[in-house]
Amino acid sequence: MPCQSSEQLNELVLKAKKFTKQGKVADYIPALKKANRDELSIAIYHPDGTCISAGDIQQKITLQSISKVLTLALALTDCGEAEVFKRVGYEPTGDPFNSIVKLETNKVSKPLNPMINAGALAVTHMIKGKSIEERFGRLLTFIRELTGNSGISYSKEVAVSEFETSHLNRSLCYFMKQHGVINEEVEGLMDLYTKQCAIEMDCLDLARIGLVFAMDGVEPKTEKRLLPAYVARICKTFMVTCGMYNASGEFAIRVGIPAKSGVSGGIMGAVPNRFGIGIFGAALDEKGNSIAGLKLLEMLSVEYSLNMF
Ligand code: GLN
Repeated sequence: MPCQSSEQLNELVLKAKKFTKQGKVADYIPALKKANRDELSIAIYHPDGTCISAGDIQQKITLQSISKVLTLALALTDCGEAEVFKRVGYEPTGDPFNSIVKLETNKVSKPLNPMINAGALAVTHMIKGKSIEERFGRLLTFIRELTGNSGISYSKEVAVSEFETSHLNRSLCYFMKQHGVINEEVEGLMDLYTKQCAIEMDCLDLARIGLVFAMDGVEPKTEKRLLPAYVARICKTFMVTCGMYNASGEFAIRVGIPAKSGVSGGIMGAVPNRFGIGIFGAALDEKGNSIAGLKLLEMLSVEYSLNMF
C-alpha cells in the first residue's frame, strides 16, 4: 500500500514526537549541541517522483554515520568488492559505533564492518584521488548525483568541531595504521572523514538517496543507473545487519527495512522497490539513534506493512 498523504504522516509524526523528551542531543561533537531536541521531520520519496512529508523538512542536518553507506558505495565502485573486504569485514559487532575493543581482540586486526567508525575510516581510506580535496570532491559529486541536488555541501563548523575533538577516532586510525589496514597520514584521513560526516542535506535529499538504494541503484524517474546493483545490494545488507549500530537486531524485528542512522539524529531508510525515507529528530536514545525517529519508523512499518521479513 502506498503512503496515502502528508496529513496521515503528520498524525504519526505528532504521536512519535512525544518521545523526543526522553532523548538527548549528541554533545561529544560540540557543534551538534546546538540542535533542537524537540524537532521531528520526515520525507518519503516515491519512484514516480512524488513526495510526502511532515515537520520542518527544510531543516538541514549533517549526515554523520549515514555517510558511511555512501563512502562504502563509492569505495566499492572505486576498488571492487575483493579489495574493500581485504581491509574491512562483514560482521556486526554488538558494540557501540566508536568502540576499539574488537580491533584488538579479533585475530585478524581489521574492523569487523564498514558501519562502525573503525570500518568507516578504513573505507574512507580507500576512496581514490590524488589529494584529500580531490577525494572529498569526488564524494560530494557522487552525493550530488544521488540526490539530484548540485547544491549539496558540508558544514565547516561541524567538520572543524569534530576534527578538533576526535581523539578516539584518531586512536582507531593509529591502531589500524600499526596493523597495516590503513597506510596514509592520519591527520589527512581525519580531515576527509570529518568533512564527510559534516555533509549537509535536508530530509528530502536524504529520502531521494534512500530511494536510489531502494531501487537497486537506479534513479527511477530518469532511469539512470547511479550505482551498480551489487553495490546497492551490499550497502542495503549492511544497513540491515549493522545500520542502527548495536540496535540493528531489534530494529530488524520491529521495523524490518534497510536503514542507517547518524548521531545528528538523521535516519535514511530504503524500502525495497517502494520508497526512500529521510528522517530528522535530534534527540537520541542511549545507543545513539534518533529516539522519536525510531518510534516513527515502527509506526510506519505497521501502518504500511513495510517489514520485509
Ligand atoms: N562523526 C561521528 C563520529 O565519528 C559519526 C558517528 C555516528 O554518527 N554514529 O563519531
